[in-house]
Amino acid sequence: MNIIVGFLKKPSAYLKVANQVFTRWIRTYAYRGSNVICENCSWQGTQFFEGECPNCKSLPRTRLIPFSIDYFDLAKTKLKVLHVAPNKTEYFGVKTKLHDVMQYDKMDIRAVKHVNLVEDLTQLTLEDNTYDLVVIWHVFEHIVEDTKAISEVYRVLNTGGQLLMSVPIFPVHSLATYEDVAIPYANYQEIHGHEDHCRSCGLDYYKRFEAHGFRTAELQVRDLDDSLVKKYALSTGHVAWCFTK
Ligand SMILES: [Zn+2]
Repeated sequence: MNIIVGFLKKPSAYLKVANQVFTRWIRTYAYRGSNVICENCSWQGTQFFEGECPNCKSLPRTRLIPFSIDYFDLAKTKLKVLHVAPNKTEYFGVKTKLHDVMQYDKMDIRAVKHVNLVEDLTQLTLEDNTYDLVVIWHVFEHIVEDTKAISEVYRVLNTGGQLLMSVPIFPVHSLATYEDVAIPYANYQEIHGHEDHCRSCGLDYYKRFEAHGFRTAELQVRDLDDSLVKKYALSTGHVAWCFTK
């Protein structure tokens, strides 16, 4: 009934969504093939559409998570996992890849539907030495007090536990992180390339984690064989880090 009422109120919006869903459905079946693989949902096809998987809507940055889980050999058994601010597509991909999980907590600073913990990453109420793996994907560029967040992640990880992390590098391949607390929020888009990014992360951003005691392993997509980048439809501007406590 709600759908009917909604349609009568805003028919154009409903038709637009219906068209998008129908287009994705057609593409999922009509473009099946073996050129590309979506590691997020295992769909195989002839192509993605502007980087997006028609089956699960994953983007290159999303697909880098399951790719990195394999690359860094993180799919161990009986893991306790904390996934920070996952969107539904990311959550689906990680859950599929980490098939033998003892505990999988999904947290966000807001009470969104698909999380079970509402926490502020800069002041977690979680116990010390709790998790084997923490996944934080494209989040730190939004956190002004990032060093507090890094310290908290280190605290809740078990010794030997790992943090799988990525931030957007802006501008692409930039070597040095740039931030200035004097920059007003209104200028974030112009200076950091996004309306909600409080810094421009560079390829040196991992050093902040090493300063807290982490050891670093790095994956720069541009260093991978070109055939792998094409097969998994990744973006050569992306980087993933695996930090070990
Ligand atoms: Zn997919």
